[in-house]
Amino acid sequence: MSVRVRFAPSPTGYLHIGGARTALYCYLYAKAMKGQFVLRIEDTDQERSKPEYETAMIDDIHWCGLDYDEGPDKPADVGPYRQSERMDLYKNLAWELVEKGHAYPCFLKSEELEELTNKAQEEKISPHAYHGKYRDLDKAEAKAKVDAGEEFVIRFKNPKKKYTFTDLVRGEVTFPEDMVGDFVILRSNGMPVYNFCCVVDDWKMQMTHVIRAEEHLNNTVRQLMIYEGLGAKIPEFAHCSLLVGEDRQKLSKRHGATSVSQYRDQNYLPTALMNYLCLLGWSHPEEQDIFKIDDIADIFDLTRFNKSPALYDVAKLNFFNGQHLKLLTGDELLKYCEVSIPTDHSFHSQEKEWKIRCLEFFKEKVNLPSELSTHFEVLFNTAPTISSEDSEELKDILTWESTPIIQQYLKAELEKLKAAGVEYPTEEHFNEWSNHIKKELKIKGKQLFKGMRAAFTHMTQGPDLKVVIPLTNVELLLTRFQ
Ligand code: GLU
Repeated sequence: MSVRVRFAPSPTGYLHIGGARTALYCYLYAKAMKGQFVLRIEDTDQERSKPEYETAMIDDIHWCGLDYDEGPDKPADVGPYRQSERMDLYKNLAWELVEKGHAYPCFLKSEELEELTNKAQEEKISPHAYHGKYRDLDKAEAKAKVDAGEEFVIRFKNPKKKYTFTDLVRGEVTFPEDMVGDFVILRSNGMPVYNFCCVVDDWKMQMTHVIRAEEHLNNTVRQLMIYEGLGAKIPEFAHCSLLVGEDRQKLSKRHGATSVSQYRDQNYLPTALMNYLCLLGWSHPEEQDIFKIDDIADIFDLTRFNKSPALYDVAKLNFFNGQHLKLLTGDELLKYCEVSIPTDHSFHSQEKEWKIRCLEFFKEKVNLPSELSTHFEVLFNTAPTISSEDSEELKDILTWESTPIIQQYLKAELEKLKAAGVEYPTEEHFNEWSNHIKKELKIKGKQLFKGMRAAFTHMTQGPDLKVVIPLTNVELLLTRFQ
C-alpha cells in the first residue's frame, strides 16, 4: 500500500513556523516514499476557523514549495478535504460506536459536571472519575431520553487499560490506564471533537503515517481508543520535537515573528526557510547543511529525527537565507533583491546589467536583501566631506605626502573619461591607474592602496575597489575630488 501522509491544519490563524515544519516533513516523507501528500483542513472549531485563514494558509504552503497531491482545491476520491463538509460521516460513526457499545450518550448537565469535577478534586482523584455516570445506562433508556429531546453529548467508553504504541521519533510510549476518562466525541450542539474527526479522517482517507508536533502526543491515547472502537487500522505515528525560543519555552508570538507570512513579508527566501526548518529536528545523513528540500527528497527518512526540543534562532535562519541568496542566478537575484531596496533608491535607475553586477558582488556581504542598500552607499555617496568624526586614520592618510599626488592623478584621469563621454570606469581603467601610480609615481604598498581608497571613497576600509569603482559613475566620483 502506498504511503499517504497528511498535513491537517486548523484554519484559526496564519501558518505557524512549527506548522510549516510539520508540513515540510509530511511532504518530504511522502516524496521519499513515492506516496501522496494530502492537505486536510480541520475546521470544526466554528468560532475560530475562518475561510480567509484557510486561503492564507494554502497560499503560504504553496509559497513554501510544499505542493500537495490532494486537498480541498485538489480533490480525489477520499474527499471532501474540509472537516466541516464531513459532518454526516462523523455523526453516523459516533452513533455506530454507540450501537457497538464503545460510546454512549451522556446527559450530565454542565452544573452537575462541574460539581462532580469539584468533588473528584476534593477527593484528590482524577477529575474525570465521575464523568461516566451514564456509561452503563440501558441503551433503550438512553435512546428514549435522546428521543425526548434531552440535551446530551456522546462520550467514548474508555476501555480502562494501558495503551502502548511505538512512535517513530520517541520509541515506545505507554499511557497509564487512568490518563483520560470517558471523553466526549460529539458535543451537545452536534459538533464532533478534534480527536474523533482526526481518527475518522485518517482512517477513511487511508493515511499510513501521522507526522505531527509533539504537543499532540497526549491526544494519541484517545485516538488509539477510537481506532480500536472503530475497528480501524492504526497508522504509524511520528511526533516531532517541539520548537522552542531562547528561553527554552515553546515558540510563541513573544519570541518574535512566528508565522510564515511574516517571513514572506520580510522577503525571506522560502528555500532558505525550508532548509532551516528541516534541520530543526532532523539531520542530514551526510551532515550537509545547505540544500534545497527537493534535493533531499530521496534520502529523507523518519529515523533521523531528534527527540529533544529544537531551538529556533532567527540569526541562524538569516545565515541560511544568506547561503540561499548566493545560490541565485543573476536574473533570480535581481528579481528577489529589487523589491527590498527602497523605491526611491538610485539603484533602480541603473541598467539591468549594472544591477546584476552590483548584486553579484554585494550578495557576498549580506544575508537579507534589506541589508543591501546600506552597502550601496559607497556607490552613490557624493562628496562626503572629511568631518571631525572621520577616523583618525583617514585624517592621517590625507596628510601623507603621496595622497594629494594620487588624488591629482586620479582626478585628471576621471576628467579624461568624462570628456570622452564614459559613464563608468572599467576594471582595466582601474588596473591601469594603480599600475601607473606604482610604476610612474613610485607610490607603493600601503601608500598606494590606502591612498587610492581614501581618494576614491573617503573611507579607510570597504569593499574591493576594483569592483566598486567600475560600478560608480564617473561624474559622481569626480565630486569626491573637489
Ligand atoms: N488540526 C490539528 C492542528 O492543527 C492537527 C493535529 C494532527 O495533525 O493530528 O494542530
